[in-house]
Amino acid sequence: MKENVERCGATAVMVEDAWGSAVDPHKVEEALMAHPDAKVLAFVHAETSTGAQSDARTLARLAHEHDCLVIADTVTSLGGSELRVDDWGLDAVYSGSQKCLSCTPGLSPVTFSERALEAIKNRKHKVQSWFLDLNLVLGYWGGEGKRSYHHTAPINALYGLHEALVILREEGIEQSWARHAKNHQALRAGIEAMGLAFIVKEGERLPQLNTVTIPEGVDDARVRARLLEEYSLEIGAGLGALAGKVWRIGLMGFASSRKNVLFCLGALDAVLGDLGAPIQRGVAVEAANRVYAG
Ligand SMILES: *Cc1c(COP(=O)(O)O)cnc(C)c1O
Repeated sequence: MKENVERCGATAVMVEDAWGSAVDPHKVEEALMAHPDAKVLAFVHAETSTGAQSDARTLARLAHEHDCLVIADTVTSLGGSELRVDDWGLDAVYSGSQKCLSCTPGLSPVTFSERALEAIKNRKHKVQSWFLDLNLVLGYWGGEGKRSYHHTAPINALYGLHEALVILREEGIEQSWARHAKNHQALRAGIEAMGLAFIVKEGERLPQLNTVTIPEGVDDARVRARLLEEYSLEIGAGLGALAGKVWRIGLMGFASSRKNVLFCLGALDAVLGDLGAPIQRGVAVEAANRVYAG
């Protein structure tokens, strides 16, 4: 986001939090007070790099109290956890087709509030990019009942997205959120029974991206390679400050299933046990099953 802001010629004021923590609204409020000329508050709702989920509603409220528009990255939240664009007052929101919508990659669903449209229409300078000039795109989307050509739509990708959304609608979006939460709880029970821990504190955890500690003395890359080779199971490595310290286990969209949770716990148990890691063996799957049994 910082990179994008700066490429657009704006100045980014960074509000830093520790990796694995949600955005701290108090720090954001302080920054907004310290920079009364700020125009936009931009944040990531569901942080895939660390597994932390921020309170988008509170952040949006603070931004509006300080006359800022809100840009929210919802790439990993859309479809997987509660996201209420209009109720929370999010002004410019983008997502991706390939995370919790379980669609092919290539499309980025976006939405803009009336406030955001107002800002776009009142631009004083032309946007440098033709492709991402939203005034032109808005005309294409049906300005004043017309559709003025801007680009050729990737209709095959759009049909894919349509089908992904039909599947989501059949399940029900609230039911999808609940499914992601349930599978996270089951994975968590198994992980904790094994003796491993979550690094994100409770209440800030992202159900679709589980950041789990690597046990003492265990070779991170070796475990991931064995899971991939022997079980065709890929889990993510830690990034940035968390590299080598955590694994990131994705449970997104179609992949957020009981079958995958039990399979992942069984495979981790076998590989870690085989490597002599200091874990409690043979209890993870049972602990997860108890969550499913209610
Ligand atoms: C995956 C992801 C992105 C990047 O999406 P691309 O389609 O690869 O550009 C951006 N933000 C978040 C939070 C993500 O999880």
